[in-house]
Order: sequence, then C-alpha cells, then structure tokens
Amino acid sequence: MITLKGAAVSAKIRVEVTELLHGLSGAAPKLAIVRVGERPDDMSYERGALKKMENFGLQAESFSFPADISDEAFQKEFRRINDNPEIEGILLLRPLPKQINEREIERMIDPDKDLDGISPENIARVFAGEAEGFAPCTAEAVIEVLKANDIDMCGKRAAIVGRSMVVGRPLSMLLLKENATVTICHTRTKELEKTCQDAQILIAAAGKAKMIDASFVGADAVVIDVGINVDNDGKLCGDVDFDSLDGIASMATPVPGGVGTVTTAVLAKHLVMAAKKHRSS
Ligand code: NAP
Repeated sequence: MITLKGAAVSAKIRVEVTELLHGLSGAAPKLAIVRVGERPDDMSYERGALKKMENFGLQAESFSFPADISDEAFQKEFRRINDNPEIEGILLLRPLPKQINEREIERMIDPDKDLDGISPENIARVFAGEAEGFAPCTAEAVIEVLKANDIDMCGKRAAIVGRSMVVGRPLSMLLLKENATVTICHTRTKELEKTCQDAQILIAAAGKAKMIDASFVGADAVVIDVGINVDNDGKLCGDVDFDSLDGIASMATPVPGGVGTVTTAVLAKHLVMAAKKHRSS
C-alpha cells in the first residue's frame, strides 16, 4: 500500500502559491484568523495555519475573543475585521459558542474574503459546480491529494462517510465535478460496510477514531482519511485504521501527515487568489 503523504501535495501547492505571488505587487496578502474561546482543536489548527502562512511567505494575524463574548459585541468585531481593506482573507474557527448567531456571520462575511467557503454565495457556487468562489479548504484538500497523486476520479465509484457542510456535502459536489459517481453515507446508512467496500475511492470524514478498518475497504481502493481524533492513548489518529489496510487498499493517507497538512496549503492558495482578485478590482 502506498502512503499518500500530505507534505508532497503541500509542496506542489506551495509552488503554485509562489507563482501567483510573483504576479502580485504590494505587501504579502494578509489572513485574519478569528477564534472565539480556547478550544484545543481550534488552537492547534490556528498554530498550523499561522506556520503555513509564514512558510508560504504570507501574512497572518490572529483575532481571539473570550468564549462568553456577546453576539452583538462579536458581530461588531467581526464586521471591523471584514471591512478592513488590509485583510484579504478570513478564516473563522467554528463552531462558535451557542450565544453567537453563526448564520448571521455566514451572511455577513465578504464572499471574496471567505477563504473557507462558509458564505451562502460560495456554498451555492460549489453546489452549482462553478469555478469561481471558494470551497471549504478541507473538501478541496481531498481533491488536491487525489489530483497530485494522479488518481483519476472520472467515472469512479466514490463513497464519503460523513455529510457535514464542512466536509462531506461540499466534497460530494467537488467529486461530482470531477465526474465521479458519488455516494454519501451517514449514521442512517444501511449496509455501510458494503457501500464502502464497493467504492474505488473511499473518503472517511465521520470523526470516529479508526472506525474504517479493513472490513470496509475493497481491493485496491484509494482511501482518504479526513478525520482528526484522539485515540484511547491520547494520540492523534484518523477515522481509518491505517495499518489494517495494508495488502488491501492500493493507497491511503496517514493521520497525522495527510489531509490536514494540505488543508492549510489550500487556505494559503485561497488567500493569494483572493488578494489577486481584490487588487485587480
Ligand atoms: P461532523 O460535523 O461531526 O459530521 C460527521 C459526519 O459523519 C455526520 O454526517 C455523521 O452522520 C457521520 N457519521 C458519524 N459517525 C458515523 C458512523 N458511525 N457511521 C456513518 N456515518 C457517521 O464532523 P466534520 O466537521 O465533518 O468532521 C469530520 C472529521 O473530519 C472530524 O474528525 C474532524 O476533526 C475532521 N476534520 C478534519 C479537517 C482537516 O483539515 N483534515 C477539517 C475539518 C474536519 P449524521 O449526519 O447522520 O450525524
């Protein structure tokens, strides 16, 4: 089984970002990372994103707010960040605390700065299969992993375990755009194992540590693990029991070191694309 490493895909995206940057004049594009509270997974994603932006020659600034900030105060702060012309891209770490009306923020964010595809405009573009706009970075990262490794999606049976708005649903549309035949699975799916076994490309995005083992995987399948979980020993792991797939799957992504690394590279690419559009308008 071939291990599909995220670092190699990220390096390819870095070359694209560098080329795009050469065509831009002025300061390096700037990302705003907006965090409410101090959830460990948000903090870890923020650290990864900050490091990646620096590594790719881009600017990033964190804006953090207390977990108990009121809806009104957060909206005011968010509007200020959204309206700041020096900020060309925004990453909002979610979910937000319950007192904040997340839908309002999704409607407020400037679609041209919405690098993680949360605005209704960007969601509609992804679902319409348009080239314009930004898809959620993780969903796009899966496509980048497949493309960078020359895995043809056209006409293939692809199954996704998970139907969230962050991963499963947008990813189904991106795969469809690549002409895959897509099945979306969830907790009510009957015969989940059989459906997964039948897939030539299997994507796990359920958020359940190591739930996808050899019994879910068909011969020579390509397995992409989006999950980020902590196992019983406190170690980071994916939704896939990677070691159990050896001799069955043809290729699989590891966790850590797989899709997560590519997600922040896609974020960087989106930032430069947003800056290019902003500076040419
Ligand atoms: P989520 O909102 O909790 O959605 C999980 C989805 O998986 C739901 O649709 C759920 O079905 C389905 N599911 C859960 N358990 C299942 C089971 N036993 N059988 C079948 N379907 C099952 O999670 P998410 O935000 O999409 O994230 C999924 C995973 O990806 C998490 O581990 C998260 O940490 C990770 N993630 C990684 C990145 C990255 O950059 N690599 C980015 C974002 C998220 P129902 O709809 O029926 O409940």
